[in-house]
Amino acid sequence: MDEKLTAYCGLCCANCIPSCEELFALVDRLDQMFGQLEFDQYAKLKSAQHKEFEDYPTFLSVLRQIKNLRCPVPCRQGGGRSSCEVRQCVQSKGLKGCWECKDRRKCTLLDRLRRIHPNLDYHLDLIADTGAAQRFEKRREHYVWQRKGDLEPVAPADELRQPGGMWRIEECMDISIVQASPDDAGEILALQKMAYQSEAKLNDDWTIPPLTQTLPEIMSEFETKIFLKVVCADKIIGSVRACRISIFGFPMR
Ligand code: SF4
Ligand code: SF4
Repeated sequence: MDEKLTAYCGLCCANCIPSCEELFALVDRLDQMFGQLEFDQYAKLKSAQHKEFEDYPTFLSVLRQIKNLRCPVPCRQGGGRSSCEVRQCVQSKGLKGCWECKDRRKCTLLDRLRRIHPNLDYHLDLIADTGAAQRFEKRREHYVWQRKGDLEPVAPADELRQPGGMWRIEECMDISIVQASPDDAGEILALQKMAYQSEAKLNDDWTIPPLTQTLPEIMSEFETKIFLKVVCADKIIGSVRACRISIFGFPMR
């Protein structure tokens, strides 16, 4: 997918309702047709039998508000909110997006977005680790309304776990544990960074190795270690790594 669809803040324009041209074409057509049919008059008459039609003016007003949501151009091509502080901040720093910003985990400008996009930090890490174009394949649903009780973690990371440190996996029955390959490195790294945010927050230290590890570094670990991944619904939801050692010539694990 075109990397231009990754907004400065890490949102994915392709998943965004205001970018859904099909929706806005339908809304326009519906509004037009209601006008042509003088549906307001009809609704008034119908409301004598069906009380629901009394709300027709509200319905029409909501329909027209929906039109105002339309965002026809991706953020990085000039769409989105022109006064967006995130965009201004990214541009003032000469960055491609927030994923290149070392302060992103502490950034309060992103808080508003984190509320509607609970996986924002996961995605920013994923983009940082795999690149804006490659991340599309690994991305998870972006917005709160897209979550359907699946494994989507809810930020901040320390709220992701149940008491006892377990991830919220009760709605995913098909879980497998298999060996990971270097192709999984970016996703595992992004998951690792998300998982260790609570640790960093606890110690107020965002420089701990799991958060600063780079993609080449984790890739090189694949040469000496065995990585296992826990997969559910094609997503990696956990991973461990181990290395083989030998003592006095005897291989140990
Ligand atoms: S306008 Fe701002 S908040 Fe909206 S997508 Fe672009 S960077 Fe993100
Ligand atoms: S401080 Fe960093 S993370 Fe926050 S808006 Fe600016 S560039 Fe993005």
